[in-house]
Amino acid sequence: MKKMFTIDSYHVPVKYEPDVCIIGAGPAGVAAAIAAARLKLSVLLIEKYGFCGGATVAGLSGTICGLFSSGNNPEQIVFGFADEFYSALQNKHAVVKPVKFGKTLLVPHDSLKWKETADELLAAHNCSILYHTNFLNAYTDDDGCISYLLLKSPEGQYAVKPKIVIDASGDAEVVHSINLETTFGNNGQVQTPTMIFKMANVDMKAFLQLDPHDLNAKIETAHLTGRYHLPRHHVYVFPLPNSGEVLCNMTRITYPDGSVPTGIHSTDLTFAETEGRRQAREYASFLIENIDAFRDAYMSDTGAQVGIRQTRSIAGVARLMNNDVIHAIKNKNAITHSAWPIELHAAGGLKIHYPEDDFYDIPFETLIPKNAVNVLVAGRCMSAEHEALASARVTAQCFGMGYAAGAAGGLMLKENITATTLNGVMVKEWMKENNLKNANETPM
Ligand SMILES: Cc1cc2nc3c(=O)[nH]c(=O)nc-3n(C[C@H](O)[C@H](O)[C@H](O)COP(=O)(O)OP(=O)(O)OC[C@H]3O[C@@H](n4cnc5c(N)ncnc54)[C@H](O)[C@@H]3O)c2cc1C
Repeated sequence: MKKMFTIDSYHVPVKYEPDVCIIGAGPAGVAAAIAAARLKLSVLLIEKYGFCGGATVAGLSGTICGLFSSGNNPEQIVFGFADEFYSALQNKHAVVKPVKFGKTLLVPHDSLKWKETADELLAAHNCSILYHTNFLNAYTDDDGCISYLLLKSPEGQYAVKPKIVIDASGDAEVVHSINLETTFGNNGQVQTPTMIFKMANVDMKAFLQLDPHDLNAKIETAHLTGRYHLPRHHVYVFPLPNSGEVLCNMTRITYPDGSVPTGIHSTDLTFAETEGRRQAREYASFLIENIDAFRDAYMSDTGAQVGIRQTRSIAGVARLMNNDVIHAIKNKNAITHSAWPIELHAAGGLKIHYPEDDFYDIPFETLIPKNAVNVLVAGRCMSAEHEALASARVTAQCFGMGYAAGAAGGLMLKENITATTLNGVMVKEWMKENNLKNANETPM
């Protein structure tokens, strides 16, 4: 029988009563906070790390994907808050020129300046953020409305009494804690984690001449000869804004039996962190010993945490389906759109599939959990089929989802309506009325 430990029921102080409390300060949470603050709502943003950025910064994912169309001449098609943040990074010289990725483009950025940009934007909008603070649990009243959130900061546990909650935790932690329905990958099978790392002192002239196919082939040969253990053979390496720095998205973490460690279990995460650092070192050694551009280079950092691509998705009022992405389906309720491919990092290898040289729409209703009263989600834990999420989860779209969710919080409060009463058309009209730019709107 399992040993149990019983804790007496105890009281905690209610420390904050914001209009909107957002859990998670990744791209979706930051965007949600700014939109809500622009509607003059009081905002409390909760983040377990000491900085914003989530997988983009802590996981060092390091590039903005999803801004551009796909085809022969990709153009920027996603605007709104994603464009605002991109411009702020450009003004700080924190990005390099867009880099080719298959049929589209992505934008590598400096992760330190990403954190600073988020800090500055939040401060300029009077958003309260609490770093080093963990969301523990949510409590609902008899109608299913979240009345309290239990948080833990270094000073202890306390409660927050918000009017609206936005779950931007990536893992649907709030939604899960109140027992609303979530799904987990493809019948429990999720994408593989990656430990991203940076190489410094790279000979950039030689690096920019590298043929990616040739690099992939050399990695595969080195692995097959047994000299190195390099399980992933289709790798991404991108130049970073600081001279001589390269971002390496190369590792693929599975257990020895091929099963995938999940991002919601501490033993799985511990395995992924240690195996990720071990693999990163192995790939770095391979680069230094075999690729001229890296001869004098060294590994300067890994992500503060292993990159987790997928955990829980909510069961939403609408679901983004694989066919919506593949056939570039348009939807009147869209709050952002995307031409980013289905980029599925499966245990057996990487699969990439583009939406018919076109873009697809992401409806607002994919952010509304079924039966939700005063909670919305934004970002990676949206409602989507497994492969569809492997496209929609990238940074530009998370910005767009977050901005719309933050705006929708204001609409719910003004009209005194529940989450499931909302639809995308209403949210877009409300955004327009309040001069909050939707990701689909091309700037004049
Ligand atoms: C390996 C990898 C490579 C990637 N590469 C790219 C790329 O090149 N370009 C791109 O655009 N996208 C990339 N992505 C995807 C992108 O980084 C993420 O999908 C995106 O960051 C998701 O944003 P989000 O705001 O929804 O969630 P996240 O970025 O996951 O942010 C969630 C935040 O919530 C916080 N949080 C979670 N639980 C709690 C809690 N209980 N209490 C307090 N805080 C909490 C977390 O600390 C985190 O800051 C990559 C992802 C991975 C994993």
